[in-house]
Amino acid sequence: MHHCTYADIGRRAKQMANALSRLGIEPGDRIGTLAWNGYRHLELYFAVSGMGAVLHTINPRLFPEQIEFIVSHAEDRVLFFDLSFAALVEQLAPHLTGVQAFVAMTERSHMPDIRVPNLLCFEELISDESEEFAWPSFDERQASSMCYTSGTTGNPKGVLYSHRSSLLHSLALCTREGFGLSSLDSALLVVPMFHVNAWGMPYACAMTGTKLVLPGPALDGASIYELMRSERVTLALGVPTVWMMLQQHVESQGLLPASELCLERVVIGGAAAPRSQVERFERDFDTRVMHAWGMTEMSPLGTLCAPLPKHVGADLEARLDLQAKQGRALFGVTMKVVDEDGAELLRDGRSAGRLLVKGPWIASHYYRQTETILDEEGWFDTGDVATIDADGYMQITDRAKDVIKSGGEWISSIDLENAAMGHPAVAEAAVIGIPHEKWQERPLLVVVLKSGKSASKAQLRDFLAERVAKWWLPDDVAFVDALPHTATGKLQKMKLREQFRDHVLQ
Ligand code: ADP
Repeated sequence: MHHCTYADIGRRAKQMANALSRLGIEPGDRIGTLAWNGYRHLELYFAVSGMGAVLHTINPRLFPEQIEFIVSHAEDRVLFFDLSFAALVEQLAPHLTGVQAFVAMTERSHMPDIRVPNLLCFEELISDESEEFAWPSFDERQASSMCYTSGTTGNPKGVLYSHRSSLLHSLALCTREGFGLSSLDSALLVVPMFHVNAWGMPYACAMTGTKLVLPGPALDGASIYELMRSERVTLALGVPTVWMMLQQHVESQGLLPASELCLERVVIGGAAAPRSQVERFERDFDTRVMHAWGMTEMSPLGTLCAPLPKHVGADLEARLDLQAKQGRALFGVTMKVVDEDGAELLRDGRSAGRLLVKGPWIASHYYRQTETILDEEGWFDTGDVATIDADGYMQITDRAKDVIKSGGEWISSIDLENAAMGHPAVAEAAVIGIPHEKWQERPLLVVVLKSGKSASKAQLRDFLAERVAKWWLPDDVAFVDALPHTATGKLQKMKLREQFRDHVLQ
């Protein structure tokens, strides 16, 4: 466990900026990282962007070929890596001919024994550098960082964030309508710093003096619980799968109610927050859930679900109904849902269509691609299908490519999954469309049961029958040991569809 102040981070970031200048790094150069959430990674956030270079955080759980593609495409000049990725770097290094130095994020005594050209040690690199560095002034539209989308369709695409977009996005996070940050908070980033700048938190916490708690590679339920307890975490951010692990740990270890914790708020984003998960946080942890939605192309935050005055005093059921929604647009973001012809749909909470967004922290191009990704009016098509209600609350019903089309009508896979996860024996659930002669597609429910629990197909269908329309009921249920996830915690439905390609509905 390493404790430090923002002043320490600032001093070491300046030393690193000096070291990178010495290595010949110029404004605009890309610096890659393959790293967990830790203090050295945080220092790089400020050193690299502060000196005018571009911090390129790389998702280490991608396939090695994808990482090779990304590093080469971004033309990273230096690649920083945590020790867990030493073997990966050794494997990749011969192919990364544009990288002039590989820096192990450790001290001399822990240097890995690997064959990599120009291998440097983080602590050695900065040890003799001055703690003074005059941060340069430059155009606010200059790039500060970049991320690649996961590339579930084709090669990953690069998104550049400017100083301007990152600052505006961070300001929105600081507000009460955002994450409501202050120096009284202790914020645990379970969301990785390679996942869209950990949703902007490293910047926003530095702006507000919020204590940052960085878990390194230990993301299992027990480690997260212990860190929350020992660092008196008040706010934690992550995807639904990590909260599933935390809740399972707390339940199985008999730690409920979680009164050892002082967790006031949890942000759930990156995938739809299951209602049962939200309910457990509210009921067993006495924690308020903030459901958030966004994308790599959006820095990433677009909406956050916070109550309006009229919701104050609502009972648990009404609160859960509200929290199932992804929320209202943050100041700066505008959204609408449109039909297949591009006509805007009613804001009635029922009419579902493609979700389009506009705003100052939404990308206009992918890196090194000339064509814009916005339409003539500046709207970005998110690829999500959603409704918006009269109060402006948006709810994602699906990703356009995951919608189940049955007899010309749409079935929301997310709604079905959430309903199934409410069953006490279900640990996780996914719903995919299976081709059907008559109906075009019908839903198949794929379920992971909690260890030691059981439920039959018929029991699950009966459970769902009370919660969804009859024609939505899955035609079949398949039981599996685990579901495929992306490195950022999203269900990999493409993989699942492949796995069940020849499945015959029973
Ligand atoms: P990628 O686009 O590479 O999969 P992103 O992290 O940019 O990675 O994912 C953005 C997508 O994740 C959104 O378009 C949406 O489909 C999904 N998503 C993010 N947050 C939520 C949420 N709270 N509820 C439902 N879906 C979400």
